[in-house]
Amino acid sequence: MAIRFSDVLASMKGSDLGPLLALTAQPDIISFAGGLPAPQTFPLKELTEVAIKVREEDGAGAMQYGPSLGFMGLRQAIADRMNRMYQPMGMYKVDPKNIMIVTGSQQGLDITGRVFLNKGDVVVCESPTYLGAIGAFDFEQPNYVEIPTDDDGIIPEELEKVLSTNDKVKFIYVIPNYQNPSGRCMSLERRKKFMEIVTKYEIPVFEDNPYGDLRFEGEEIAPLITMDPKHLVMYSGTFSKTLAPGMRLAWMVLNDELLPKFDLVKGSTDLATPSVTQREAAMYMTNYDFDGHIRENCKLYGHRRDVMCNAIKKYFPSDVKCTYPHGGLFLWVELPEGCNARDLFKYALERKVAYVPGDSFFPQTKKKNYFRLNFSYNDDDVIEEGVKRLADALKAYLAD
Ligand code: PMP
Repeated sequence: MAIRFSDVLASMKGSDLGPLLALTAQPDIISFAGGLPAPQTFPLKELTEVAIKVREEDGAGAMQYGPSLGFMGLRQAIADRMNRMYQPMGMYKVDPKNIMIVTGSQQGLDITGRVFLNKGDVVVCESPTYLGAIGAFDFEQPNYVEIPTDDDGIIPEELEKVLSTNDKVKFIYVIPNYQNPSGRCMSLERRKKFMEIVTKYEIPVFEDNPYGDLRFEGEEIAPLITMDPKHLVMYSGTFSKTLAPGMRLAWMVLNDELLPKFDLVKGSTDLATPSVTQREAAMYMTNYDFDGHIRENCKLYGHRRDVMCNAIKKYFPSDVKCTYPHGGLFLWVELPEGCNARDLFKYALERKVAYVPGDSFFPQTKKKNYFRLNFSYNDDDVIEEGVKRLADALKAYLAD
């Protein structure tokens, strides 16, 4: 029997990144490719305690189907934390009823695509942007318009040019904090201008904030949801980088008009996020020092950022530039104009080191001379050795 796949699948640009990155799973390769948190940050003792307690105290609830919007105990704990952190910065009071629990923020991206997009609609995003978001939206076959960015994030004037002339824009997707892949933060000034423009054109914004809590230094910059008089921001937070990605728990804050639409799609996607992990996370948030745990993670990641940046300074050729992120998991390397990070990848693999070539983060412009490095996962000596190998690959590539 001939297997016939859907037209959408056939039409997907289909990243060739998968096979490329599969090579990096070999044990002798030092991989800076994934976005994995360090396993020693998982609070296993505490998570084991809550796993037992949840089963003892609310076993039936934990093992039963739950509401598609999520377990109210978790929605309440998330609303409390967001209100505590962001109301003083100007956010309206988030009602737990406006929080939808999702099975990883990746699911939130998928649902958002399904809620908004017809084929040929436009998603506006930063240049570069998170490749997983592109992968989720691609199922609806949208077009992308990348807005140029600099060290302070998206350039507001460029955004306004697009919004004032393109009536196919359905929503804007941005990662204002320690962006994936660039590691950059949108400045407060830029956030204000961005939200002024968005409010003027009344375009919904997906504020993806997996890294906001992973701040190594500097003052916290208010998220977009704190500057949102018309409630256009669909805020997305996740436990993946602060607790454990294996729990597959994240949330979205949605206004009253959007919430039922998202709920409809969520219900038909997986009925609900697992009842058991939701209860575990809620109990963890209420009974343990979540913020203290996050501060410990930040110490480790800030240290690893330093190890990687110092090694880069020491070993990389001087015409290769890279960002210095103040949080998050990634830094972003820019090769001289005309270089191709995919060609460099072969040199890197020969030397048993890997990264993610940058073109996948540019859905429209496919720029070739960038790549992304993760600094959270590997131990210090592995980071140092990997950067040395990468420097060697760079020198060989640039000399050819
Ligand atoms: N958004 C961004 C910007 C990410 O970097 C990631 C994970 N790499 C996700 C969403 C998905 O995270 P999760 O589904 O684990 O919440």
